[in-house]
Amino acid sequence: MNNKDMLPFLDLATPHQELKEELCRVFGTALDSAAFIGGRAVDEFEKAFAEFCDAQYCVGVGSGTDALRFALMAAGVKPGEIAITVPNTFIATVEAISQAGAFPVFVDVDERTSNMSPAKLEAYLAEECQFDAAAGKTIHRTTGRVVSTVVPVHLYGQMADMDAILDIAERHKLMVVEDACQAHGAEYFSSRDDRWHRAGSMGKAAAFSFYPGKNLGACGEAGAVTTNDSDVAQQIRVIRDHGQAQKYYHQVEGYNGRLDAIQAGFLQVKLGHLAKWNNQRRQSASRYHRLLGSIEGVQLPCEPSWTRSVYHLYVIQVEDRQGLQQHLTKSGIGTGIHYPVPLHLQAAYRNLGYAPGDFPVAEKKAAEILSLPMFPGLTFQQQTRVAEETQAFISPRARALSAAGD
Ligand SMILES: *Cc1c(COP(=O)(O)O)cnc(C)c1O
Repeated sequence: MNNKDMLPFLDLATPHQELKEELCRVFGTALDSAAFIGGRAVDEFEKAFAEFCDAQYCVGVGSGTDALRFALMAAGVKPGEIAITVPNTFIATVEAISQAGAFPVFVDVDERTSNMSPAKLEAYLAEECQFDAAAGKTIHRTTGRVVSTVVPVHLYGQMADMDAILDIAERHKLMVVEDACQAHGAEYFSSRDDRWHRAGSMGKAAAFSFYPGKNLGACGEAGAVTTNDSDVAQQIRVIRDHGQAQKYYHQVEGYNGRLDAIQAGFLQVKLGHLAKWNNQRRQSASRYHRLLGSIEGVQLPCEPSWTRSVYHLYVIQVEDRQGLQQHLTKSGIGTGIHYPVPLHLQAAYRNLGYAPGDFPVAEKKAAEILSLPMFPGLTFQQQTRVAEETQAFISPRARALSAAGD
């Protein structure tokens, strides 16, 4: 490959070119039947995606953000209650919590996995909360708020430590709603159950996003909730459709949050390729591991033996992140930062009262993480180029640093 060729961070065009005929057929069918909202295409995709996730139910909605918000509402989060999540996620996780009426609280993440630290969760509950045995609820001591929910995020395609989180949640009577928006097909080995579980099958409910760049992406906006609880599924069907189970008879005030039939059709086609695409991502990840593993100062993503990541993103950590990103950009290699500002330090959440230093692990990561090109079809040559340019950036600096130390 010519070095001047641009290597994008994400190639969305090629897979859609390859599927063009099939996708156009979906569009044709929708035009012919004029079934644009709901109907067979949505039912069929919901059934297929529930099966893929090893969950009993799937309800298609308008986006991942809808999925999270509806999942929290249907799971029974009450206004004013505390829902605990992590600061290093996409803002939608926290938007959904507040828009469901709950109060977001953060706990820091695990240094190795970048996912919710069960130890930090336990510490928050022990130090700031107490269990009200009479009410059977956990209460935040200073505000008196009920702590009702934990929202672990399966970040970058890798599941959080669900055994530990579920165990803590059970002991404190908390619900667990998974943010699986980046984790379609990710797996977790539960020692409690002695088996592997799929993302979206372990909590009370789970939210998936089908934003185009996700491992399973629509050709537009789409999302889904998976659950093993028939009541939760039924409630979401009502919430997504203006609070009606029967047309114009509204049990509650709901939302316009349905899944388009055309998007469901596109998703059904693409779901057939997801396992293969996830395998290609895992293969690319292990090639990156080998190519980058010996470069000093580059911290690779950590995948413990109890989890199988689907590598929505391949995120490394380096001290001079800005320098490396600039070097790669100049060399024609696209990168991303997921995410540059942790949510507790965002202007939008100033009202939550957090300050720099509150979540040191998440803050350090925000300053040092860099997402390298990752998509199905990424070639060994392209990855070699990323590794060579990374090495080229690190080596002169390493030489200069050691010279300065002499
Ligand atoms: C993409 C994403 C969402 C939101 O999904 P949308 O479909 O864009 O609404 C929520 N949480 C995480 C972690 C995400 O990556």
